[in-house]
Amino acid sequence: MNWMALAERVLGGGPSSRRSGALSCREGGSATRAEALAVLMAPAEELLALLEAAFAVRRHYFGLGVSLHVIRNAKSGLCTEDCAYCSQSAKSAAAAPRYELQPVEEILQGALEAQALKAVRYCIVTSSRAPQEEELNTVCAAAEQIKRATSLQVCTSLGLVDAAQARRLKLAGVDRFNHNLETSERFYPSICQTHSYSDRLATARAVKAAGVELCCGALMGLGETPEDRVDLAFALREVEADSIPVNFLDPRPGTAFEHRPRLAAAEALRILVMFRLVNPSRELRVAGGREVCLGPLQALALYPANSIFTNGYLTTPGQGHAADLAMIEAAGFQVTDVTQA
Ligand code: SF4
Repeated sequence: MNWMALAERVLGGGPSSRRSGALSCREGGSATRAEALAVLMAPAEELLALLEAAFAVRRHYFGLGVSLHVIRNAKSGLCTEDCAYCSQSAKSAAAAPRYELQPVEEILQGALEAQALKAVRYCIVTSSRAPQEEELNTVCAAAEQIKRATSLQVCTSLGLVDAAQARRLKLAGVDRFNHNLETSERFYPSICQTHSYSDRLATARAVKAAGVELCCGALMGLGETPEDRVDLAFALREVEADSIPVNFLDPRPGTAFEHRPRLAAAEALRILVMFRLVNPSRELRVAGGREVCLGPLQALALYPANSIFTNGYLTTPGQGHAADLAMIEAAGFQVTDVTQA
């Protein structure tokens, strides 16, 4: 397949726009399901051509910017749910930290530290099926204080929420809410039994209806097929996810998926290219598992993706902020300023 021709079509440009040296700036379409599957099945020698095509689309919408997000594990462990990949689940024997929701002051302190790291977004995460009333009060109070004290965009990830809860978060100043679909509807029962795919979709729709940006993404490497990956990419297009974090399973000892193999770097990169070509204008984040799956190739993820988590993940460390900045600079990209986010 001619991958650059696909990128041009996704962007809405014709063959002549490439010859003239610039891709069209018109709002474009998307790769088809067949094309998305072809990306995932492409031979190894086409990887650089795939990345070049994804980069053309990414550059059109986001230039060379990389937005940094800092995640705050504000309540850890103690979860009632059985997500098979998660070290904080009720079924997990992993050595994940366990503590109740942190007070407002601690969450605010984390935001101040995130701002010092040049983050554009601070994501407050709690381990739970859904937020309790008191937890929602605390998170809303923290969001209000963060919005007053910093220029950060605030994201929350609190499990399942209904329309009224989403509206409360909106009123408190929360800019974005994260709730991942993780995988396809077909494969979903293999990863979670305590809440359904339709529960997750309902949360995504409640968030959008409240006027809060939706961050909704993927966890790859759970045993899903390429078709499952494509189905998920189109499901995220369907729910109009504003931001798509793509995580790669880093199997945690003590979880049900502890023996799943990690994805190879080339496979992870093809997945990112596919998500970019199906959801061309959406923020695409190479998220958890970046370092361990991509290894020395992780800078190549910035060709399809325009965002990363810096300074670690919920229960695992990353390579560190200084190494993230060095990687971005060495690859010729730039950290996105909060005014550009
Ligand atoms: S609901 Fe969240 S914290 Fe709880 S097990 Fe699932 S992924 Fe982990």
